[in-house]
Amino acid sequence: MIIYLDGRYVPEEEAKVSVFDHGLLYGDGVFEGIRAYNGKIFQLEAHLERLYDSAKTLDLAVPISREEMAGVIRETLRKNNLTDAYIRPIVTRGRGDLGLDPRKCPKATVIVIAVEWGAMYGDLYEKGLSAVTVSVRRTPAEAMPPNVKSLNYLNNILAKIEANYKGGDEAIFFDTNGYVSEGSGDNIFVVKNGEIVTPPTLNNLRGITRLVVLDLARSLGITVREQNLGYYDLYSADEVFVTGTAAEVAPIRVIDGRIIGTGKPGPVTRQLMAGFKRVTETQGTPIA
Ligand code: PMP
Repeated sequence: MIIYLDGRYVPEEEAKVSVFDHGLLYGDGVFEGIRAYNGKIFQLEAHLERLYDSAKTLDLAVPISREEMAGVIRETLRKNNLTDAYIRPIVTRGRGDLGLDPRKCPKATVIVIAVEWGAMYGDLYEKGLSAVTVSVRRTPAEAMPPNVKSLNYLNNILAKIEANYKGGDEAIFFDTNGYVSEGSGDNIFVVKNGEIVTPPTLNNLRGITRLVVLDLARSLGITVREQNLGYYDLYSADEVFVTGTAAEVAPIRVIDGRIIGTGKPGPVTRQLMAGFKRVTETQGTPIA
C-alpha cells in the first residue's frame, strides 16, 4: 500500500509521523472520509470544502492548496490501482512540543490513505441494523462545532462503545437539549406517512451523503422536512435510516429493542438505497 505523506508517496511501512505530532498528542487536526466508485471520486469538491473549512475553523494552515490536495488524492488512488475505494485525507497540526500551543507547530502534516472498502455493514443492508440510543450526548456546538471534522472523535467513540455494550450495530446520539442528533458516524432520518424528516444540521455533522440523499428524495417527489426530533419520532416512525460516506444508505430495523415499522427495510429507504447507488455510479470526478 502506498501512502501520501508530506509531499512523498511511500510504502505503508515508511509512512511514519513524529510522536510529537499534535494530531497524536491532542487530536489536533482534521480529516475527511471520501469514496470512489467505478473510477470516479464521489462528491470530491464538497469533501475538500469541508476539510479546508474544518481546518480554517481550527486556524490550521493546510500547506497544499485544494487543487493540489485533489491531485494528491487522485495520484494516491492511481498508485494503489484503486477504482473503488475509501479515501482518508488527514491534516494534523504537525510536530510541536508537549505543550498545547499550536504556534509551536511550524508545519502541518498531510497524509492521504486509500484502501479498498466495500459495504460497511455487509448483509445488514438487506436485514436492517439494530440501533441503540446512548446516554452520552453529542458535544454541543457551543463547545466544539460538530461540523468541524476533527481528529478528536472521542465523543463518537464513547457512543460506539456504549452501543457495543448494549449490542447495537450503531449508536444514536441526542444533543444536550434532548433532541435527536445523529449516529456515531452518520446522519439520521425518519420516514413518517411517506415524508422524510431529519434534524437540522446545528447539532450534528453536515453530512455530504445527507445532502445527496435529500436532493435525491426531492427528485423522486418525496417530501423532505428538517425538524427537531425526539424519542417519540424514532419509536413511532414507519422507517428509520442513516447516511454517511462509509455507511452509505443503511436501514434501521430496531431501536432500543423496539421494532421500527415492519422491522424490515421499508419502501422509501429501499427506493433511496437504489437511487443512491445509481447516483454514485454516474456522478464524480474521474481518477484518471
Ligand atoms: N456524522 C458523523 C459524526 C460522521 O463522522 C459522518 C461521516 N463523515 C457523518 C455524519 C456523515 O457524513 P458524510 O455523509 O459527509 O460522510
